[in-house]
Amino acid sequence: MSIHRPTLYRDAALADGVGPSLRKGVSVLVNDRRIVWVRPTSDERDLPPDVHVIDAGGSTIVPGMVDAHSHVTLPGGSHWIDRGADPPEELLEVAEHNGELLGRAGVRWARDVGSPLAVDPRDGRRRALALRVRERWKSDPNRPRIRVAGTWIGHSGVLTGGLAVEADDGPALLKAASTQLDDGADFLKLYLDGPKKEEAPWSTEDVRAVVELAHGRGAKVTAHSGFLVGARVGIDAGVDSLEHGFELDSDAVSQMARQGTFLVSTLAIFRSWASFAQTTTLPRFVGDEGTDRIAHRRERAIESAQLAHRAGVRIATGTDFGGGSLRANHLAWEVEALVEAGLKPWEALASATVRGGELLAEPQAGRIVEGGPADFFLVHGDPLTDPTALWRVWRVAWLPEAGTGQR
Ligand SMILES: [Zn+2]
Repeated sequence: MSIHRPTLYRDAALADGVGPSLRKGVSVLVNDRRIVWVRPTSDERDLPPDVHVIDAGGSTIVPGMVDAHSHVTLPGGSHWIDRGADPPEELLEVAEHNGELLGRAGVRWARDVGSPLAVDPRDGRRRALALRVRERWKSDPNRPRIRVAGTWIGHSGVLTGGLAVEADDGPALLKAASTQLDDGADFLKLYLDGPKKEEAPWSTEDVRAVVELAHGRGAKVTAHSGFLVGARVGIDAGVDSLEHGFELDSDAVSQMARQGTFLVSTLAIFRSWASFAQTTTLPRFVGDEGTDRIAHRRERAIESAQLAHRAGVRIATGTDFGGGSLRANHLAWEVEALVEAGLKPWEALASATVRGGELLAEPQAGRIVEGGPADFFLVHGDPLTDPTALWRVWRVAWLPEAGTGQR
């Protein structure tokens, strides 16, 4: 059986991520990795003579998800920060493992928002490691589709040494931004937490200059934002999105909604850290002080996502796997966390699918359309009402079937 043979998924439900209602009794014909049509099972009409029929009864077709905040070269886990210093060859192997995990979890697109700098053996220059992963994955249809921010650009004294680019004033910031784009970054990632929690690392004017530079070169700018003071600078400077947005207020979110600034939520981080109180011996997670601090930040982060949602901010979402403690196959956890923050399950699924596609300016990402790529997966349960259905993956349309040796 060849992957080139047309395949019919028969009598599934379909959750397309753009509305609240589940369609039942749906058949989808796939050929050459594209969706030929989506029709009621009761009205399939003519089928290709060599069609391979998959009885999808009882399962639900879901668009391939978009992990809009990921770090494909890093493994995650409770020692996630230490792992950033591992040798580049090991991190490239980690990326391949992550590619496998993402696909099997129904994640089709990964937006990489930062990878360590490493010497590129092709020319001896130090550049973000995920750029090499992007080159590798470009030619492999089984690997996630990926967009890469290059490395983190931060103020000195904030990010662990040597992994990121440091810039302490406007000119240095602009130069760092320009170098990332020269290296081939698809977009820029600024780290808008400063060495002092109550101060932003750069002025609004400095950040605005970077936004203008990037936009002039057809690239977007996103900003890590853990605290309100940095969020304000990013929003005023016109960045395209805020990552995390753990501390937002009503002024900030209404301006984001007006400007069309995306929020990329990463709330499941706190669920992961809370789980480490049981599963690790690390003082920052186990002690009373640690658990209190985490619980407090979690509450504030949930409140911020709620504010943003009510104000009409477009919310994409991601695991922060690798740059945080989640693993590459945990996006369902984040969808659950968004539901806890007040999004309806179908809205949370939209965040993990179509909103992510909008953020990437990839109109086909996170969607199921006739003529579009067959980027969908099948789960059990209705993710439009129950986000935990996303954990119950049965099969993934863009990957070879296990055991068939198909490529
Ligand atoms: Zn991150």
